[in-house]
Amino acid sequence: MSRLARATVDLDALRHNLSVARCRAPRSNLMAVLKADAYGHGLLPVAHELADATDAFAVSCLEEALPLRLAGLAHRIVLLEGFFDAGEINTFAARRLDAVIHQPWQIEALAQADIAAPIDCWLKVDTGMGRLGFLPEEAPAALERLRRLPGVGAVRWMTHLASADVPGSPETAAQLQRFGAFAGASAEATAANSAATLHGREAHADWVRPGIMLYGASPFEDATIHPALRPVMRLEAALISVKRLPAGHGVGYGARFVCPESMPVGVVSIGYGDGYPRQAPDGTPVLVHGQRCAVIGKVSMDMVCIDLRNASNARVGDVATLWGEAPLATEIAGHCGTISYELFCQLTPRVQRVYR
Ligand code: PLP
Repeated sequence: MSRLARATVDLDALRHNLSVARCRAPRSNLMAVLKADAYGHGLLPVAHELADATDAFAVSCLEEALPLRLAGLAHRIVLLEGFFDAGEINTFAARRLDAVIHQPWQIEALAQADIAAPIDCWLKVDTGMGRLGFLPEEAPAALERLRRLPGVGAVRWMTHLASADVPGSPETAAQLQRFGAFAGASAEATAANSAATLHGREAHADWVRPGIMLYGASPFEDATIHPALRPVMRLEAALISVKRLPAGHGVGYGARFVCPESMPVGVVSIGYGDGYPRQAPDGTPVLVHGQRCAVIGKVSMDMVCIDLRNASNARVGDVATLWGEAPLATEIAGHCGTISYELFCQLTPRVQRVYR
């Protein structure tokens, strides 16, 4: 028996979640966000599965875009941070990649480059996120300048919402109001991430850009807000040790957990070396035989110990579910003080990805 640490990716669920996004924003084009190896789910398998259902893909950088082109995908591909230096511009032109333009130097670099084929651009407006983009008062001049460049094709508008995961937030309303001065007037526009795709009709515009919802995790803290989504990834590992420890016995480094009574303790073959969060506290749920068990003791590099009092018939070789339909990744993230996005992205290559 070899070591089992496996993420099973349910491709039907992936397609289902994309159809939820389509239903929510029926009049918008859809850009499936596949950055960070499709949020840890595997760039190419996810892209192929969504190819006939999406209008475009969004990624972070050339390293993520080029494999899509090499795999024969002809979709619009938007690089959300654009080019990182002028040396990348010709690859954008040669591979027909769309660049997000968020800094003046990028416009100057386009002006100076000898570009073989016009590059479609998305001019990013910082309507309140305070991260990438031109401030609203700078954006019209940036648009004018871009439009005059022979190496630039279509120019569209983009903004990013800082608080879309808080339904009804006044910050989102204010951002959309600022963006309204651009969106629709002169060019196509996009603002909506998953949260805004699910909740904010007023944010849909011409393109929606869902990421996390495609993978079946709620963008909202309260994971129950969107029961329509189906979790895509199930993370499992095997029990490699089952034994009874006496009352008072410590478990794991530093004996963070001390057995309050004689109890069965399991060791599961997954740890922070696989991307399972080291910060998982005692009580973080793990499913064994359909029963909710709990992490006890500090997570090690290759192993995590669990309290098997709720699954006392568990044996070595049985499979434990770290997240999936139950417990949800969002729930685990809540225990660990993080978000499902980080849990998915930090899974290491050591975790075997299986597609079904
Ligand atoms: N658009 C941009 C610019 C992003 O940075 C992200 C993700 O971080 C997304 C869209 C997708 O967001 P979400 O995964 O919350 O749907």
